[in-house]
Amino acid sequence: KLLVGAVALLTPMVAASDAGAETAETFRYESDISRLRTLVIHSLYSHKDVFLRELLSNANDALEKLRLTSLTERGVMSAGEPNVTISVDLDEGGETGKIIIRDTGIGMNKTELARNLGTIARSGTNEFLRKAEEGGGADGNLIGQFGLGFYSCFLVSPTAHVSSLPPATEANPNPEQYTFISSASGDTFEVVRDPRGNTLGRGTEIILNIDKDNMEFLSTSNLKALIDKHSTFSTTFPIYIRERKQ
Ligand code: ADP
Ligand code: MG
Repeated sequence: KLLVGAVALLTPMVAASDAGAETAETFRYESDISRLRTLVIHSLYSHKDVFLRELLSNANDALEKLRLTSLTERGVMSAGEPNVTISVDLDEGGETGKIIIRDTGIGMNKTELARNLGTIARSGTNEFLRKAEEGGGADGNLIGQFGLGFYSCFLVSPTAHVSSLPPATEANPNPEQYTFISSASGDTFEVVRDPRGNTLGRGTEIILNIDKDNMEFLSTSNLKALIDKHSTFSTTFPIYIRERKQ
């Protein structure tokens, strides 16, 4: 894993722009991340729907990690807690809309947001890049082999806002909610204290801005069909889909 080198790159490149508590730190993506994002966005426009599988599988992983953590860390989750779910909100507002995917899982603190979403902390990513570039693109086969992970959200959304709040633990009894902000293009991303405060209770929220080319995804029946289509993929936890028209 490339974590050591990667973390060294994560010193904020621009000093916080705002005075006061709500400071935003700007980070530069690792160059391999920029390659990966470009590759994903350019070679996969005919497989856009994989974004849903990837984000739901991350939500599922986060809930699984919470469950495992709760075995040794008392207090991260109450016994028999019903609130261990994934929700997908479809917010349609005319020409554009939002898809909001939330889980009540393990969450990420400020450092983890920058490291997990801004560096290549994943085994296999380099191999994926090499094969995809050799083969002139990433086809469905490669996608199946490696998965695309978080960056597939840029297939349907020009921006990603990821807010996250880890559970309270003995070591960190008062966690704070932070937001990772990135656009599909550009070499940098931001991490900022969520100006809304700790709205999540616990877990992660991903807000995607769906443009008019991708409005088909703002439909409960289409999303359900997609989840069924990726039948090899299923989550252990319930997924609630809600649709709101404005
Ligand atoms: P992978 O799932 O293969 O590790 P991803 O690009 O999908 O790669 O995700 C990168 C990392 O970001 C994950 O390993 C995890 O640490 C973190 N992450 C992504 N989504 C979530 C989430 N919903 N909750 C907590 N952590 C997440
Ligand atoms: Mg993943």
